[in-house]
Amino acid sequence: MKSKILGNTGIRVSRMCFGSLTIGPLQKNKTLLESREIIAAALDCGVNFFDTADLYNNYDHLRAAIQIQPNVVIATKSYDYTAAGVRSSLNRALTELGRDYVDLYLLHEQESKKTIEGHWEAIEALIAEKKAGTVRAIGISTHRVEGVYGANLFPELDVIHPLINLTGIGIEDGTAQEMAAAIHEAKKAGKGIYSMKPLGGGNLLSQKQASFEYVLNIADLDAIAIGVQSVNEVLYNVKKFNGETVPDDLEDAVSSAPKKLHISDWCTGCGKCLKRCNQLALILVNGKASVDEKKCVLCCYCSVACKDFCIKVI
Ligand code: SF4
Ligand code: SF4
Repeated sequence: MKSKILGNTGIRVSRMCFGSLTIGPLQKNKTLLESREIIAAALDCGVNFFDTADLYNNYDHLRAAIQIQPNVVIATKSYDYTAAGVRSSLNRALTELGRDYVDLYLLHEQESKKTIEGHWEAIEALIAEKKAGTVRAIGISTHRVEGVYGANLFPELDVIHPLINLTGIGIEDGTAQEMAAAIHEAKKAGKGIYSMKPLGGGNLLSQKQASFEYVLNIADLDAIAIGVQSVNEVLYNVKKFNGETVPDDLEDAVSSAPKKLHISDWCTGCGKCLKRCNQLALILVNGKASVDEKKCVLCCYCSVACKDFCIKVI
């Protein structure tokens, strides 16, 4: 597994970043034992970079990575935009990961320069945490081209976690080419860049080879986060990242049925999830939430809004 230094941070990361949303309670809800096996397989293959978030609620799963290999790189993020909120989320991460620092702490889903300025109180708190040694680098995640250009304007932000893939699915304000151009500018500015959703949240599974080639050929990406939910998927993705041929039996093993968003029948139709969906993929039908699978990018942000835990990817 190749590795790179993440921008100007000095942090060396494997080109493949283990996207952990998939193993946690919002998606496949693997047991701690199952997660440990999947994480151990990734570590065995040279993957040292793990991405999570406060809302993924899976720090207890990722603790296994630290127990097996204490110097793994962990990136986390939260929606907090106040100093108190971000400190509270960071403390939760430190406590639940069982570590006295996190490598990367990002503000989740920032939209533009204005959003970043509006959340500056949280960024100042993170700058202070970085000085104190509890965070090694800070940054943002974004689904928007304007989010990348916005982050470029602030030297305080070390890392950007943008969405890019072959067709641009999930980019809210532009094309893949426009996002690639923004990423190129960020790279020139010295930002560390690790992208997300190379397979469009499962929507590009039918163009898997072309999708892998597309992101792996973007030299500006230091690393690429990809969700994995089984040992076979780890082995498959590692082969793709390494440019190796995938054996037929492994190809067959990972070609499972497409994932889809599932809304349980106890949905009360409160509509809170609809407000969280930037893709406008949810509507109410007969008093219950219903998903338009053509629009849904399986980001799972809606599921967090549902206090009754009706929404899952299965
Ligand atoms: S997972 Fe939910 S929030 Fe995300 S695109 Fe699909 S319906 Fe919208
Ligand atoms: S938030 Fe939950 S209960 Fe409310 S409409 Fe969405 S799925 Fe249904």
